[in-house]
Amino acid sequence: SGILYVVATPIGNLADISQRALETLASVDWIAAEDTRHTKPLLQHFAIQQTLFSLHEHNEAERSEQLLVKLLAGENGALVSDAGTPLINDPGFVLVKKLRQAGVAVVPIPGPSAVITALSAAGLPTDSFRYMGFLPARSNKRKLELQALLETTATLVFYESPHRVLDTLSDLLEVFGAERELAVARELTKQYEQFVSGSLQEVNEFFQANSGKVRGEFVLMLQGAQLQQEERASSEFDPWINAMLQQNLP
Ligand code: SAM
Repeated sequence: SGILYVVATPIGNLADISQRALETLASVDWIAAEDTRHTKPLLQHFAIQQTLFSLHEHNEAERSEQLLVKLLAGENGALVSDAGTPLINDPGFVLVKKLRQAGVAVVPIPGPSAVITALSAAGLPTDSFRYMGFLPARSNKRKLELQALLETTATLVFYESPHRVLDTLSDLLEVFGAERELAVARELTKQYEQFVSGSLQEVNEFFQANSGKVRGEFVLMLQGAQLQQEERASSEFDPWINAMLQQNLP
């Protein structure tokens, strides 16, 4: 059977498309796109002519069946979303799972994703992070989900839309308190790219005072819970070494 290539596309700056992405998009038999109206101009920009099928959350099950048949018949296809890496808060999971179950090869063509792009320049710990996608739209549910994360030590990463970002910032402040550090990445790879970081209190005040900056696309990154000093010391050293260390403190 053929191969499905899962192709990442830019999250803003078109120059971020990879050589391999371009070669793949040009050479497959068809492209399944989240929104064909969105993908057409991208292909036009790179002078690629292709057959497009739509694959979005409302037709993914049915479309996946049709694409499976094509792949089993030996055609090669590509999957793209509107921006970034497919399946990362974008359609494609139903298709990829079906193809894996059917034994069809699925090959990733890596490239931009907002979560990794944001983390790579935010200045928060990245050794362990928890990607949470979008929080619930309603404040009650959002706060419940946030409360469940209070003790998570990994850096927490959220996607957010501009019309909810102020509400989400104030819920973060309410649940996690004023001191936790937050980094906001806005309009990554685009002309008005901006990083804002500080305590939850400071970042809230900044966006309330600069409501003109509450537009575009956002990634929110929250510092993880800090283990207490004693907990950390006792988990890392045995009591004897710990006592020695304390004696040497100024
Ligand atoms: N598949 C995409 C990826 O790999 O990042 C994510 C798609 S999701 C539907 C769209 C969300 O991703 C936006 O609401 C925003 O939170 C984030 N995002 C996408 N592009 C971004 C950018 N250029 N700057 C900041 N955030 C971005």
